[in-house]
Amino acid sequence: MRGGLPHALLFHGRPGIGKLHLAEVLAQSLLCENRLHTGLACGACPACGWFAAGNHPDYRLVQPEALAPDDMDAGAGETDAEDKKKSSKQIKIEQIRALGDFLNVGAHRGGNRVVLIHPAESMNPGSANALLKSLEEPSSGLIFLLVSHQPRRLLATVRSRCHALPLALPPRDVSLRWLQGQGGAATAAGLAFAGNAPLEAALLQDEEADTRRRLFDLLGQASTSALSLADYCQRLPPGPVVDWMLKWTYDLIALASSGKARYNVDREKALNQLVRTMPTLKLLRFYSALASMKAISEHPLNARLFFDDLFIAYKEIV
Ligand SMILES: [Zn+2]
Repeated sequence: MRGGLPHALLFHGRPGIGKLHLAEVLAQSLLCENRLHTGLACGACPACGWFAAGNHPDYRLVQPEALAPDDMDAGAGETDAEDKKKSSKQIKIEQIRALGDFLNVGAHRGGNRVVLIHPAESMNPGSANALLKSLEEPSSGLIFLLVSHQPRRLLATVRSRCHALPLALPPRDVSLRWLQGQGGAATAAGLAFAGNAPLEAALLQDEEADTRRRLFDLLGQASTSALSLADYCQRLPPGPVVDWMLKWTYDLIALASSGKARYNVDREKALNQLVRTMPTLKLLRFYSALASMKAISEHPLNARLFFDDLFIAYKEIV
């Protein structure tokens, strides 16, 4: 019924290259009741309609609450909200147990049943073990699609029961054409900043491009003080700022060593000016300090102090 597919597939590769999208396309085609000769879903049958509306009875998407559309009640106190925030990054054992009936009862439509788990590494050990049972006893017409950015963080027993499909970055020109087709203001520089991952580039354009550009403008001027940088960032979420600084610093190191930037390809001139006054060893130390800051950037005790420390350390490189 599943057309010769293994009962569990593991799509893995770096974030932002379209693994989830591919898994969803496959899920829809497995459920479509009038599949095209190309193997793709027809997009017109009742099954495709339900899939698009997110309520196909033979499909389950399992992901951390944090990724689900926000339908939390607004009245929750701050502590509750904090608790939810912390727990919601994991796929909890209850979520896997809740699949129980779905896994044991046959398909509503007499075809396949599909469970998509994304990202699979967000299952905690309890959840992964609960899933393992189902992975060990394949049932007819039931297909598991696991999507993972970091397959090494999966339980080895889960990994070994899935057919792994590593997904590489698409070629740059293909990604750029796709981005331009999305109607955004896609540029080769934007794609480079996203490490050539097209979906990530599309998201970066939408959400934070201007904020990020302004920060890089400030960083590009050697005269900007640590305090002005911290002022600018204090209302921003620390996580992304640390990511931007990692890329910025990576480029400074890359320019010093190979003469070529990797992420900020449109700012090579400014970066080149700066790197002249920055000893490579200090840059490397700062990069490694940033990587440690990354770990606490999700929940810094005090965002202002966090940014003060970060930019004072940055300015000390000079
Ligand atoms: Zn269809």
